[in-house]
Amino acid sequence: MPGVPILMYHSVRADPPPETAGLSVDPGMFAEQLAVLRDRGFTPVPLSGLAGLHAAPGSGPYADAPKPICITFDDGYADFHAEALPVLESFGFPATVFVTTGWLDDAGPDAAGRPLDAMLSWAHVKEIVAHGIEVGAHSHSHPQLDQLPDGALHDELTRSRLLLEDRLQQQVATMAYPYGYSSARVRRAVARAGYASAYVVANDIAQVRSGYAIPRLTVQRSTSLDLFGKIAEGGHGFFREKALTKGYALVRRSRYLYRKTMHHG
Ligand SMILES: [Zn+2]
Repeated sequence: MPGVPILMYHSVRADPPPETAGLSVDPGMFAEQLAVLRDRGFTPVPLSGLAGLHAAPGSGPYADAPKPICITFDDGYADFHAEALPVLESFGFPATVFVTTGWLDDAGPDAAGRPLDAMLSWAHVKEIVAHGIEVGAHSHSHPQLDQLPDGALHDELTRSRLLLEDRLQQQVATMAYPYGYSSARVRRAVARAGYASAYVVANDIAQVRSGYAIPRLTVQRSTSLDLFGKIAEGGHGFFREKALTKGYALVRRSRYLYRKTMHHG
């Protein structure tokens, strides 16, 4: 079986604030992108289905799925509930949301870090799970994990997982690295913290479907429908072009600088 593309979105909204503007996708464009997937014969599968394919190739509900692809969202923006979920449901497509627990709208005493836009509430998170959306962790306060000493790193990884498991009453075995980035030390800590798999941003197609550095493909506001089709199809050696990875590094840096400016770095 060839590699499975995993798409990475952030927010889906018409008028994003400057902090998320580059990574936010217009709702109309999002619907057009899902139509591209449908029209080109893709089968969006949940990340858990991908793990199942890895554990037992050729078996399970997605063994014969034509052109499997996964759809993921980072951070947990409120617009996932308001904008993305209705569109996903109209297509019958599954998705995974990686939630930054300390950023949630009603995180209360657990609030940590500085959210970049309006975030989901716990009630929203429970509701999207009831609608079949899978939830993974995305750290607790969205730090650059590789910059943390071991103790703080372990806290970030376990606190987010335990909060999600406690509130949702289900196991949370996957996480995505804030800024899509990890080091070998961070990946070891993720394994120790009880995660079964973790997702990075590498703008490559996942050839392996398990582990702690499973690549994902960035969809940005500037991504044209034509480019989106190429990303999904993975043709033309597109993913190894440096431009996209470089682009994400710029976003990462500007977000970091922004956070530093706001004294939240
Ligand atoms: Zn993030």
